[in-house]
Amino acid sequence: MEGSAPPAAIETRALRKVYGDKAALDGVDLRVPAGSFFGFLGPNGAGKTTMIRLVASLAPPTSGEIRLFGRPLETDSAEIKRQIGIVPEDSLLFEQLNGAEMLEFAGRMYGLGRAVARRRARELLELFELDGAGRKLIADYSKGMRKRLAMAAALIHRPRLFLLDEPFEGVDAIGARLMKQLLEEQVRAGATIFLTSHVLEVVERLCDRVAVIDRGRLVLEGLVSELAAGSRTLEDVFVEVVGAERRPPALAWLHP
Ligand code: ATP
Repeated sequence: MEGSAPPAAIETRALRKVYGDKAALDGVDLRVPAGSFFGFLGPNGAGKTTMIRLVASLAPPTSGEIRLFGRPLETDSAEIKRQIGIVPEDSLLFEQLNGAEMLEFAGRMYGLGRAVARRRARELLELFELDGAGRKLIADYSKGMRKRLAMAAALIHRPRLFLLDEPFEGVDAIGARLMKQLLEEQVRAGATIFLTSHVLEVVERLCDRVAVIDRGRLVLEGLVSELAAGSRTLEDVFVEVVGAERRPPALAWLHP
């Protein structure tokens, strides 16, 4: 892991996470260069959310190593966590808070002073067009509103590393475009984005690198510009690497 190259934003070595007798992650060596817009892809149940949860210290690995910006996660956990912004798959939002309270809480948790957290919370609610819902309990938010709020909470402390699990899922086209613009801006300013998505057209357009995981193992990693070249799309590449042995038997009654 050492050397003259700048440390990666995320680096994992032999990372394993076992649930019962099943390995959700089965020896993953992954390097996410700092400053990259990185798409982490894979079929349902492949291990993407597990990976995000481990990198965000929301769950411990069974074995293996995680380094963020060159530092082992377990030794510097609190400090490193402050540099992370996360949009979890099922938003970790507190149902009995309203949007403004939630954002202010997130800002405070990440070390912002009260006045700054309050001001940024107000501005983010406005930016994400949630100001009308700022006083509404999160329990009463729609799915898309929750994702918008989760993204606002991820941005409030301007983290160096974003861990985004299906961030656009359920978000309308206007909200999704806003999120994409904000994320591209963060990458231009030096942040790293690690994102999962099943919408490969979006990944192809946004990300510069991707990795594909299947049944807990990495099966592909590379530059989008090299993988999806000419008329070959990222979807073609994805289906090729994970779809080949999954061709379902034809159901006669479904094919009149
Ligand atoms: P999807 O695209 O469907 O969201 P994913 O790639 O995010 O899938 P994970 O949620 O990481 O997949 O799940 C990987 C495997 O680990 C699955 O087989 C899942 O059932 C299992 N798993 C995940 N979390 C747990 C848990 N808390 N307890 C037991 N098994 C789990």
